[in-house]
Amino acid sequence: MYSRFLVLVSCVAAIGFWSCSRSTAEEGSAPKPMQTGYLAKVEPVASDEWVLLIHGGAGVISRNNMTAAREAAYREGLERALEAGGSVLSEGGTALDAVEAAVVLLEDNSLFNAGKGAVLTADRTHELDASIMSGIDLNAGAVAGIRTTKNPIRAARAVMDRSEHVMFAAQGADRFAQDQGLEQVTNDYFTVSSRVKALDRVLKTRAEKSDKRGTVGAVAIDVRGNLAAATSTGGMTAKIPGRVGDSPIIGAGNYADNGACAVSATGHGEYFIRVGVAQRICMEMEQGKATPGQAGADVLRRVADLGGDGGLIILSPAGDGAFVFDTPGMFRGVIRANGALSTSIYQDE
Ligand code: ASP
Repeated sequence: MYSRFLVLVSCVAAIGFWSCSRSTAEEGSAPKPMQTGYLAKVEPVASDEWVLLIHGGAGVISRNNMTAAREAAYREGLERALEAGGSVLSEGGTALDAVEAAVVLLEDNSLFNAGKGAVLTADRTHELDASIMSGIDLNAGAVAGIRTTKNPIRAARAVMDRSEHVMFAAQGADRFAQDQGLEQVTNDYFTVSSRVKALDRVLKTRAEKSDKRGTVGAVAIDVRGNLAAATSTGGMTAKIPGRVGDSPIIGAGNYADNGACAVSATGHGEYFIRVGVAQRICMEMEQGKATPGQAGADVLRRVADLGGDGGLIILSPAGDGAFVFDTPGMFRGVIRANGALSTSIYQDE
């Protein structure tokens, strides 16, 4: 955990949007990692006729490790994805189509760790994970270990729409996608030189979090009040081939339920799976019991208690949203029916 996030519980009133909660250990229970306090940034988003939130990964993202040109390229990539999803929603399209459209743009953008530009495994290959879920009927589709399907989120959507299953893995997932007519590429299509350098760094030195992270995701509510969520990732740099993170796990990295919430997560996947992050947030939000910000901060604290960190985008059935993260930055953006579009990267924006 980053020291700047270890602050006293009494900070709530002083800093508005930041939400603090204290981790507690029950007397007599097994020892847990000790934390004196915990802070996640919560950025609320007002509801509208339709709303789309996206993220491009959370991690050690700071102005010190960003050039002006690179920052502009990230913001541009986020804006294009917001516009793609927003145009679906503004024409009365479904939340499901909007989150897929936004994630396809992020997968095709080599800056983000999903689709082209995905991180490499320890074997110098790419294994991609994705999932999508509809809040109307809890229908869902997911793929893990994709190696040749250009847009893993399209494969997840095909699993949802055109099979009676929820998840396909490895060769079977690519074969299914190919049978559905989805574009196939060679595995090196996904490779960009910055990810090769990151892999070399991670293999040579002890990995830094900044070298390992990233995922993209979207949550939306459409004009009919339906929710959807989509998440896609290359996983973590130098992962052992076969490793699957939280992103394709329905209930961990992705969830949508019209009665509760839509969530897409990014962060150290093993912790997100163990906490059951996305579904737990939805359970906390059922029947309006918690706002997106409250539920997100609470569940991210549970991840932090285990030693993990990351970020979340969350929408409620009323269209209220929140960005929640406990890393120095998270690539993120929102577009709403009133036309307002904004992107942010750092925690002080
Ligand atoms: N959650 C992804 C994984 O563990 C990585 C990330 O979001 O940074 O595969």
